Amino acid sequence: MQKLDGRKTSAEIKDEIREEVNSLRSSGKRVPHLAAILVGEDGGSITYVNAKVKACDYVGFDSTLIKFNDEISEEELLSKVHELNEDPSIDGFIVQLPLPKHIDEKKVTLAINPSKDVDGFHPENIGRMSLGLPAFLPATPNGIMELLKRYQIDPEGKHCVIIGRSSIVGTPMSLLLSRNKKGANATVSLCHSRTKNLKEMCLQADILIAAIGKPYFLKADMVKEGAVVIDVGTSRLPDSSKKSGYKLAGDVAFDEVSEKCSFITPVPGGVGPMTIASLLQNTLLANKRSADNA
Ligand code: NAP
Repeated sequence: MQKLDGRKTSAEIKDEIREEVNSLRSSGKRVPHLAAILVGEDGGSITYVNAKVKACDYVGFDSTLIKFNDEISEEELLSKVHELNEDPSIDGFIVQLPLPKHIDEKKVTLAINPSKDVDGFHPENIGRMSLGLPAFLPATPNGIMELLKRYQIDPEGKHCVIIGRSSIVGTPMSLLLSRNKKGANATVSLCHSRTKNLKEMCLQADILIAAIGKPYFLKADMVKEGAVVIDVGTSRLPDSSKKSGYKLAGDVAFDEVSEKCSFITPVPGGVGPMTIASLLQNTLLANKRSADNA
């Protein structure tokens, strides 16, 4: 078994981006600028946004963190989104999810200008991706595609089984893997909570992707010998031995599954860092596109 080291791969990508940013700066061009909107005090969201800002600093992007308390109204949040849409100094921005219950996440996602939607969640980007047109690809699935590519795992002709059909992970993952394109061309089964015989489905997988949010759900008896296993899950479990008071748990029972598979992503250090690398790639792309339009 070989670990798919998302931390190392993401560090390589960040170094590549840093070089590009250095050459933009030395040729007098504007460097990419990412803004992030954070609403409320959700521990996970704060950690993710801080990691994104830190990654921006590392690669030399400008970044702006905009924080609101969770009492902000939907109108106020939408007005900030419109302001960022119109701000020519911002190449791309994200609204960290989840949002408080009184705010309609779909409405907020739809309000983001697709040309600044570096999370790749806007229906225009999802639609363009489905048609194979240039688009901002959703950060987590695209990060997984990049990880497979850099470890020379070609999905072509393979049976990929994805568990979880969310609009930010499972569903776009199924579209990316099944595209008629080099580095894709997989046969995909998209499973969810109503899938019958999930274990039998999983046992057919050459590449098995778990994006459920249930700690240690995927056990060794659900995995074919030699399969590639990608663990997207990041659940927080109380752990008094950690300074933070919690540990991150994946959807895969790592110890037993790693005995059986050929490649596996750890949690933490697998898909998470690749998501951030992918967000940076999208922001660099947004900057290049706006420079082309200037
Ligand atoms: P989500 O919106 O909660 O969707 C979960 C999916 O899992 C749903 O499609 C659900 O089916 C399916 N599911 C739940 N229980 C199941 C079961 N027993 N058998 C089969 N399918 C089942 O989740 P998400 O936003 O995609 O996130 C999934 C996990 O990935 C979470 O732990 C999240 O924190 C993590 N995540 C990590 C990253 C990263 O960068 N590492 C990024 C995004 C998300 P139904 O549709 O039928 O309800």
